[in-house]
Amino acid sequence: MNILLIGSGGREHALAWKIRQSPLVDRLVIAPGNPGMTVLGECRDIKATDVRGLIGLVREVGADLVVVGPESALAEGIADACAAIGVACFGPKKKAAQLESSKAFTKDFCKRHNIPTAASETFDNVAQARAFLKTYQPPYVIKADGLAAGKGVAISPDYQDAVAEVEAMLGGRYGPASAHIVIEEFMTGEEASIFALCDGETAMLFGWAQDHKRAFDGDTGPNTGGMGTYSPAPIVTPELLAITQAEILDPTMTGMKAEGHPYTGVLYAGLMVENGRPRLVEYNARFGDPECQVLMLRLKSDIVPYLVAAAKGELKAMPAPEWHTQAAVCVVFAARGYPDSPIAGSIIRGADRDFGPNVTVFHAGTSRAEDGSLRAAGGRVLNICARGETLQEARDKAYEALNGIDWPGGFYRRDIGWRAL
Ligand code: AMP
Repeated sequence: MNILLIGSGGREHALAWKIRQSPLVDRLVIAPGNPGMTVLGECRDIKATDVRGLIGLVREVGADLVVVGPESALAEGIADACAAIGVACFGPKKKAAQLESSKAFTKDFCKRHNIPTAASETFDNVAQARAFLKTYQPPYVIKADGLAAGKGVAISPDYQDAVAEVEAMLGGRYGPASAHIVIEEFMTGEEASIFALCDGETAMLFGWAQDHKRAFDGDTGPNTGGMGTYSPAPIVTPELLAITQAEILDPTMTGMKAEGHPYTGVLYAGLMVENGRPRLVEYNARFGDPECQVLMLRLKSDIVPYLVAAAKGELKAMPAPEWHTQAAVCVVFAARGYPDSPIAGSIIRGADRDFGPNVTVFHAGTSRAEDGSLRAAGGRVLNICARGETLQEARDKAYEALNGIDWPGGFYRRDIGWRAL
């Protein structure tokens, strides 16, 4: 079969790497891809948000399946456009993707369907939001309703700071994405990310991981898209999975179907776990980046039949996927200055060699210069991933590989997985 994969980050490089291993695939086309992906498929320079261009490409290559990596493509309606021409798409339609693209929608949805999450109210008016804050205890959690590139969440320690956040957001800090805001209860506990493949009816557990959001060691510094991940995460027990399935995933599938927007693709549940009980922090409508990287390293089954089954409503007939029992770690190598102002253009040497068994380097923000050198071209630039018998072994291998890459323009955290170790 022919597959079109959309995206250009480390997440999509990991998906391409896994899809390429499937004997079912004749042709893998990637739009737009990155320099690391050119050995896995044909990269075409069409942006993930250019739905018209992508549909033209679907037709040109005769794609049997479109696999969507980033949320931006979903928000532009790539899944709706595929449905309109009768091509299977792994990823939700726009209305279903609201589970990620509108926090207000998701909070109301949770209330309607009794899904455990933080208590919250939605506002579009500063005076009402201020009055509501008065009734709450700090810390205050204030969120832009829409997609804000992972930046739309503020946790304010006191009332004055919270009011300033409310005014800034409703005043247009994130444009239309913060025309509405959600103010919610602060939850304590430990976070975990759980993934499920969904076909509109069935949610099938598809791995879990823990990430490190802060830029620097010891979970300090600004929030980022993610500086590293590991899987499995000890906090995710069989009991936690069973409760998450019954109280969060299943009611979400039933509720979305009943409301006329059956959810397909991958559902990424960000959970807060306290005393063994999960509450939903947020949903994402795609794989996490860099969670996807460790999941792909640990997935033993061929991924392609699962992607097809999710897209075609056939998950119920599929056996649970098989996983390597080994642990996997992903360390993000980021450009200095990330996340505020990453410095682009520095030369990276030694990233393209063979790092030996069970070590894989995925590209994210890289570019190939005319002289053939590899350059930094984004915030998160490389993902150094490894599998090992234990988390410690996986981590040691990843850092050993990273130390073999000559990139003075980059930095990384030295403590990925510390919580589990
Ligand atoms: P979100 O984009 O909604 O996942 O929020 C980003 C991060 O903010 C989460 O990963 C949590 O660390 C934190 N966060 C969000 N909502 C809450 C909450 N209600 N209570 C405590 N922490 C939260």
